Amino acid sequence: MSNHSRATSTDLIHHSFHAAPEFEAVMPPTHKASTVFFTNVADMRQRNWLRHDDYSYGLHGTPTTFHLQARLATLEGGKHCLLAPSGLSALSMVHLALLTTGDEVLIPINAYGPTRDLAEHLLQNFAISYRLYDPMSPEPLAFSACTRLLWLEAAGSVTMEFPHLASLIQQARAHNIITALDNTWGAGLAFSPFAVANQQGGHEAVDISVHALTKYPSGGADVLMGSVVTRDDSLHQRLKRVHGQLGLGVGANDVELVLRSLPSLALRYQAQDQSARQLATWLQQQPAVAQVLHPALASGIGHDYWQQTCGDQALAAGLFSIIFQPHYPQAAIDAFCDYLRLFRLGYSWGGPVSLVMLYEPNQLRAEWPDYLVKGSVVRFSIGLEDVADLQADLAQALTVFEDQQQAFW
Ligand SMILES: *Cc1c(COP(=O)(O)O)cnc(C)c1O
Repeated sequence: MSNHSRATSTDLIHHSFHAAPEFEAVMPPTHKASTVFFTNVADMRQRNWLRHDDYSYGLHGTPTTFHLQARLATLEGGKHCLLAPSGLSALSMVHLALLTTGDEVLIPINAYGPTRDLAEHLLQNFAISYRLYDPMSPEPLAFSACTRLLWLEAAGSVTMEFPHLASLIQQARAHNIITALDNTWGAGLAFSPFAVANQQGGHEAVDISVHALTKYPSGGADVLMGSVVTRDDSLHQRLKRVHGQLGLGVGANDVELVLRSLPSLALRYQAQDQSARQLATWLQQQPAVAQVLHPALASGIGHDYWQQTCGDQALAAGLFSIIFQPHYPQAAIDAFCDYLRLFRLGYSWGGPVSLVMLYEPNQLRAEWPDYLVKGSVVRFSIGLEDVADLQADLAQALTVFEDQQQAFW
């Protein structure tokens, strides 16, 4: 050894302090890393990022990301989990991992909008085709010889139809087609995607459950993240390889925020569900409102399927839409949204602040279904405010329709 004395700047980096390992607390530690140390060359050579629980580079996982993955796999009743930087990147990863030139993917007509956009544009560039299907149609699904992947969503985005999930899974299974559920609405709480009750008293399992953690698991409207949960080892490996190839790393601070919110997930989900149902029921009685779209209400589209699928817990997301009486002009609907004070105009849901958003029929689908009143859809995401305050806010904003009528007379 030389007697060279090291500079403080080096000592600050190569310090001898190591925290005692017996420390334990409520929150797991947040490990941040791009670089991961190997003890020696042999150790480095034998590590493989595709293996579960192997640390090789921060992109492929740290104790913190593995911790969240394990909890999310439990939440959804799966075995493996991958994290992605947003719900949409999780959806894209599944498409890119499982589809190749000449393949076809089926997407529900009421799917999360950007999923359709991905299929219409990016997937077309790879000569991967897509077809939209009506998840509420009693007709059997029309698969082609090229269909490889069936997307499911329960309830559907914006118009909130609850499909016969078990039947759709059964049909795909019979044709060896992979099923992927966008499970953001159910959040792993309303029903288990790997044990969906069927009409024969048994259960069906999807192959893949994707969850926008941005919504309920974050709970703060301040994190973007997604997860992909599976049970099958080889399917997980296919996804994991593409996850690495696409470089879909997530930041440890964001993972920490989701880990911190997860313990209150079930309580928040229930509270937001209760408030949403109370407000949806109240809105149903308002003369200006023609239709309320909420699968847990008796009038909801696919209510029986919701009951069959979510019957055990009888839970629903705190999310619903309304359609105003068709004689009201768009300007009145716009004014209603602008009159709201507690409800803020903004995308997303599952956070503390209640939100409102407007969707025009031609934005949602080419042909308007018979079961929906023709008109702009106004969607509410219910936050954690007191429900009486939210109802008072809706009531004061509804006066815009009375004013409108007075102006008309
Ligand atoms: C929000 C959402 C997504 C996308 O999540 P981001 O994190 O915003 O990309 C996907 N699917 C559904 C149903 C969503 O509500």
